[in-house]
Amino acid sequence: MRVSQLLIPTLREDPGEAEVVSHRLMMRAGMIRRVAAGIYTYLPLGLRVIRKIECIIREEMDRAGAQEVLMPIASPAELWRETGRWDFYGKELLRFKDRHEREFCLGPTHEEVITDLIRREVRSYRQLPLNCYQIQTKFRDEIRPRFGLMRGREFIMKDAYSFDQDEEAAKLSYRKMYDAYVRIFTRCGLTFRPVEADTGLIGGISSHEFMVLAETGEETIVYAEGGTYAANIERAELRLPTETSDEPFRPLRKVPTPGLRTVEEVCAFLKTTPRRLAKTLLFTTPKETVAVLIRGDHEANVVKIKKLLGCQDLELASPETVSAVTGAPVGFAGPIGLRRTRLVADHAVRVMRNIVVGGNEGDTHYVDANCDRDFKVETFGDLRSAMAGDPSPHGDGTLSVARGIEVGHVFMLGTKYSQAMKATYLDPQGNEQFAVMGCYGIGVGRTAAAAIEQNHDAKGIIWPVPIAPFLLHLLPLSPSSQVSQAARNVYEALVAAGVEVLWDDRDERAGVKFNDADLIGVPYQLIIGEKGLAQGAVELKERKTGAVTRLPPAEVLERVKERVEQAQT
Ligand code: ATP
Ligand code: MG
Repeated sequence: MRVSQLLIPTLREDPGEAEVVSHRLMMRAGMIRRVAAGIYTYLPLGLRVIRKIECIIREEMDRAGAQEVLMPIASPAELWRETGRWDFYGKELLRFKDRHEREFCLGPTHEEVITDLIRREVRSYRQLPLNCYQIQTKFRDEIRPRFGLMRGREFIMKDAYSFDQDEEAAKLSYRKMYDAYVRIFTRCGLTFRPVEADTGLIGGISSHEFMVLAETGEETIVYAEGGTYAANIERAELRLPTETSDEPFRPLRKVPTPGLRTVEEVCAFLKTTPRRLAKTLLFTTPKETVAVLIRGDHEANVVKIKKLLGCQDLELASPETVSAVTGAPVGFAGPIGLRRTRLVADHAVRVMRNIVVGGNEGDTHYVDANCDRDFKVETFGDLRSAMAGDPSPHGDGTLSVARGIEVGHVFMLGTKYSQAMKATYLDPQGNEQFAVMGCYGIGVGRTAAAAIEQNHDAKGIIWPVPIAPFLLHLLPLSPSSQVSQAARNVYEALVAAGVEVLWDDRDERAGVKFNDADLIGVPYQLIIGEKGLAQGAVELKERKTGAVTRLPPAEVLERVKERVEQAQT
């Protein structure tokens, strides 16, 4: 295709709103434009990349025995009420009413809709296993849409749903999807790692996330160095603390800590360490306020706390709530004399002795406080996040921490949805059984963004060949008729051979063309200059390495094909 005829509005400057490199480069390369927060238009280059990824996904899903369907974007509230998610899902679910005042939502995921289909259409065990997938636009009213396509509100997802006769068969379906995901992300040219994951809003028995390793990733993963364990930090379980203390119990004392609110300030003032302080964090759920005790050097894990409390919406309490509940301003909450809330604590707190806690009074803390003697904890649980150096729960060494972008997620759902919606089949004995389900998602736009996070340099994007918008960028550097003619000949020969060529036929300076080509990041550039051509040569340049090969125009096709074959093996 010709650059002069395509809408590729490249930008010289970084757009202000873009915080991560993939977002900046997608904007600068003219791939996407923002319509509203988290809502984008895909321009021709962006869409070509999306389509490439979709094509790889389709091939691998079909190969794994899944079949493509397309479900609607709008779905009726009744289906969501059957599973309880109309209430449970919270504000991410965008709800609306039609002209008859009937309630609907924009699908953030499609378990309800597919289960409704399957309960109507599947009667017998003979129709199972079944795996249906779609590549479709989802809507989630994310609190913080950001990073371009990485966390949009409207985004393209591949979602698949498997239905099996029993747990064993469901595991096999899960395994097939897991393997398909490994092939998909490998084919997309990504460096990734599957990790154990929390089952979140969708619920279910077990799940893995596919993480593209990148510094800018929103997810934190922990893994056993040299071992097999790898998990999202939201989920990574911790072993119960084994340390004991033979320190004698000291009497409780109240001490003034004027204006000292943070763990660091209080510890510095009292000449102690965060390991000997327990912070009291107040959270609100739709039903109540809960105090959570966490060791000073540990980080509270909101996902684990939600799980313990059995609630979906959990937020740090507002300063007003904190002072209403504790009688003290923020920074001085503590477990002693706390009457108006439940008190839960991380396991690590149970084994602490003679600790510092907030005083529930302005400018005051307690020292030498002890659990059971000075305050009662209602429930202990695993409520903190794993840290580097913690022992791996599998016993295979200590944990390290890395950042990742979650591009895919596979879940074993069990019968959660089939029971709620009565999706049954008749087994060979004629008994009614619930179908055992799995669900499997891939963020298509997020995968494109993740590919850029891993493949770029100061000049721009460096597309992996399989998902590049074009394979070759043709750059005639002069308007002379010989150069134009040579470019046209090469273009026609390559296109006839099925090579995707972007031809910069604009009347622009060489510098402008080079900059745009490096920014857009097509894997090969073919440079045709007047001088070289007079000597019978053009230059084939690899975007990734900058390596240049001089060759006669007639050899271009053959060389390009060789390179592509090499790239794909
Ligand atoms: P996250 O924790 O990032 O919000 P999630 O657990 O909500 O993700 P799933 O419900 O498992 O995501 O959705 C499947 C896939 O869809 C994710 O692995 C991700 O690639 C993609 N995805 C989810 N939310 C978004 C979003 N807001 N923008 C773009 N892609 C998304
Ligand atoms: Mg989410």
